[in-house]
Amino acid sequence: MKIAMIGTGYVGLVSGVCFSDFGHEVVCVDKDPKKIALLNAGKVPIYEPGLEEVMARNVAAGRLTFSLDLPAAIAGAEAVFIAVGTPTRRGDGHADLTYVMAAAEEIALAAKDYMVIVTKSTVPVGTNRKIKQVVSKANPTLDFAVASNPEFLREGAAIDDFMKPDRVVVGVQTDRAAEVMSDIYRPLYLRDFPIVITDLESAEMIKYAANAFLATKITFINEIAALCEKVGADIKQVSKGMGMDNRIGNKFLHAGPGYGGSCFPKDTKALARMGQDHAIPMQITEIVIKVNEEIKRRMIDKLLDLCGGTFNGKTITILGVTFKPNTDDMRDAPSLTIIPALVGAGAKVRVVDPQGQHEGEALLPGVVWMDDPYKAANKSDLLVILTEWNEFRALDLKRLAKKMASPRMADLRNIYSARDARRAGFDAYESIGRTAQT
Ligand code: NAD
Repeated sequence: MKIAMIGTGYVGLVSGVCFSDFGHEVVCVDKDPKKIALLNAGKVPIYEPGLEEVMARNVAAGRLTFSLDLPAAIAGAEAVFIAVGTPTRRGDGHADLTYVMAAAEEIALAAKDYMVIVTKSTVPVGTNRKIKQVVSKANPTLDFAVASNPEFLREGAAIDDFMKPDRVVVGVQTDRAAEVMSDIYRPLYLRDFPIVITDLESAEMIKYAANAFLATKITFINEIAALCEKVGADIKQVSKGMGMDNRIGNKFLHAGPGYGGSCFPKDTKALARMGQDHAIPMQITEIVIKVNEEIKRRMIDKLLDLCGGTFNGKTITILGVTFKPNTDDMRDAPSLTIIPALVGAGAKVRVVDPQGQHEGEALLPGVVWMDDPYKAANKSDLLVILTEWNEFRALDLKRLAKKMASPRMADLRNIYSARDARRAGFDAYESIGRTAQT
């Protein structure tokens, strides 16, 4: 089957590459000439483990190409996927559909034969119907169907998530479109995964409900962690004990500095907005958004305490700035709230991140980027672990403590323990949801 993928960001590129690995003929399209030039030179514009290898294999097999030319890419395609960005619209929290609607119109104007126009981007309920109207208006004689196929992959584990999904969700209006979508995902049937076929609105809603639920779970455990600190409980033990209950499950129960990334912040805001528009306020989601902001602020207070009440003139070394490990994505990362507060209050901030510098440089003015945690810690007053990259999980704490002017650590991912830190020579150690003794 021939497939066109419009948008080659984190989702479009991974989806296009994986579809070609299923054996389909895929053309990935983007508007950004730099991205397409890089891809045509065999380079991956984002950091995603394993992606380059699968991409190279399929380019070599002649199944995968990259292009700026949308009309040529969609000619003869049975399915055209829209995987462009849907960021938060400035000012009101709505998902910005400008890119989606522009792509839909471009597809409509170039399309000739029957095709399924599939939305992979996360879009508010009702958008696929609007896409149908936009396409019909731009090309009234075109025979086509729309389908909603939200994506659930996680950055950093995207290939595995795409190849072995918990489920694939497809929203359609016709049997013919359902058949095309089933054919696309048929290679996965070997692994007996479930495909959930729904109407358009349910598919769109599943994505927002799932993301808001996960954001709620993270925020819930972060709030419990704050209480643990006051009452002397240990959040690691609490999470473990809770997560062993099958009704709860052990995923998304790790306390940290607040959720971030390209999806949870914007999708929770968009869901809250949808609720307001329909006079059914999403009160839980609204509170989650608020509490998550407070959790990030609470991290700044934690660091301030460790710095003796002022950041002015302090040298602070930050390990990790991406919103999670194994990605270079900086969108809405907690570091973007925490680090500017430190810089603004007069701290000298050094930053180490295995992949974050390329994106982070423009977003974090006034920091010094370094490669090596030990060099960065030299003569610093505080060490902060913000992202749990593997590189930061087995640090030589003794060596770090020796290098620091005042050995203090804020471990915002609970990698180490107060005992480890004390033994290594740290004077102070703070983590999340644990008292200074644990
Ligand atoms: P992204 O910003 O990384 O990529 C979007 C790409 O689309 C860019 O390369 C841009 O140049 C291109 N583009 C925009 N308009 C275009 C047009 N008319 N023609 C061709 N190319 C065009 O975005 P992303 O992170 O891949 O997210 C895409 C969608 O998938 C969003 O709706 C997001 O919510 C959703 N999603 C993302 C993730 C994730 O982990 N990133 C996971 C699930 C769902």
